[in-house]
Amino acid sequence: MSGLILNAVTKQFGPFTAVDQVQLTVPHGTFVCMLGPSGCGKTTLLRMIAGLDLPTGGEIVLDGQDITRMPTHKRNLGMVFQSLALFPHLTVGENIAYPLRIRGVGREEQVKRVQELLAMIHLTGYADRPVNKLSGGQRQRVAIARALAISPKLFLLDEPLSALDAKLREAMQVELRKLQQQLGITTIVVTHDQREAMTMADTVVVMNGGKIRQAASPIEIYRRPADRFVADFIGSTNLLPLSVQGGNTLVLGQPVSGIAPPAGQSSCSLSVRPEDIRLSAPGEGRLTGRVTFIRDLGGTIETFLDVAGTEVVAVSTPRERPVVSIGQEVGLIIDPETAVVLAA
Ligand code: ATP
Repeated sequence: MSGLILNAVTKQFGPFTAVDQVQLTVPHGTFVCMLGPSGCGKTTLLRMIAGLDLPTGGEIVLDGQDITRMPTHKRNLGMVFQSLALFPHLTVGENIAYPLRIRGVGREEQVKRVQELLAMIHLTGYADRPVNKLSGGQRQRVAIARALAISPKLFLLDEPLSALDAKLREAMQVELRKLQQQLGITTIVVTHDQREAMTMADTVVVMNGGKIRQAASPIEIYRRPADRFVADFIGSTNLLPLSVQGGNTLVLGQPVSGIAPPAGQSSCSLSVRPEDIRLSAPGEGRLTGRVTFIRDLGGTIETFLDVAGTEVVAVSTPRERPVVSIGQEVGLIIDPETAVVLAA
């Protein structure tokens, strides 16, 4: 298969297992975001793919070739790592041409390639600027162009946009995704920003404790989280205790209709996204709660409710604005199609 295969890749630092038997297939031309809380092992995994760290177990295969022990410079990679900053004393053009120069590419070919790359990152005409005269976003684009100069097989980025302010970061996410699609280059990005992962990735890999908890498309991760960790980590959700008593399904101790745990499981959690709760008059088969707070953010309205002592959040848009007020008793309608039952 063309693409990247991680086969039981493991990294131990002494007795501590930072990456634990990771199994992942990244088909050629796809964009993968590795996402997880601090310390989950995502950077260590990326460093092993890059050849900057040696796995203590497992193998890494790129386009059918075992590269587990191959030195970094032979892997044909493009890398944008926080530690690999631009050379401050060189111009934009010299920075981008650097990997070509050290590979002995001819002067004319270098100039041509730099022009192509500058056009690609929308910085045509910037070749002679010193990099320290650029904005943060421009510098990041130059780092990306430099990494792509050698037309790598695999493009690896570690938190590439984390130093940028929120607006610029969002714009760069779209730019990076478009660039990747245009070039069809297999790309792996480490991030702790789930919005960033959802924007760019074909596949989001959620990690925790050195293990992959789920690898799937952004929307599947969001709609069908594999477990409580993923449900809670991706977006916000209400995780409500669910139990069965006398054939009735109870959520927060109240009977609800249309939702049942898998056979044999009597005690689970129900993950319900805030936007999947509709507020109505109290009624049969619905949860009943009391409005405790309303946060009107203009574009969305968050209604906080006390349901049997547990805080539940419902989100609506101004158009569907439920007319509720603090202290009011309301019914919560949960569409069984959107709620996910997870093992406790
Ligand atoms: P962050 O988002 O904070 O960068 P991460 O998910 O990238 O986190 P890693 O940097 O991969 O996490 O680290 C995973 C775990 O391995 C952490 O507990 C870290 O302390 C440990 N670790 C990483 N490098 C080493 C090392 N050289 N020696 C010992 N432990 C290490």
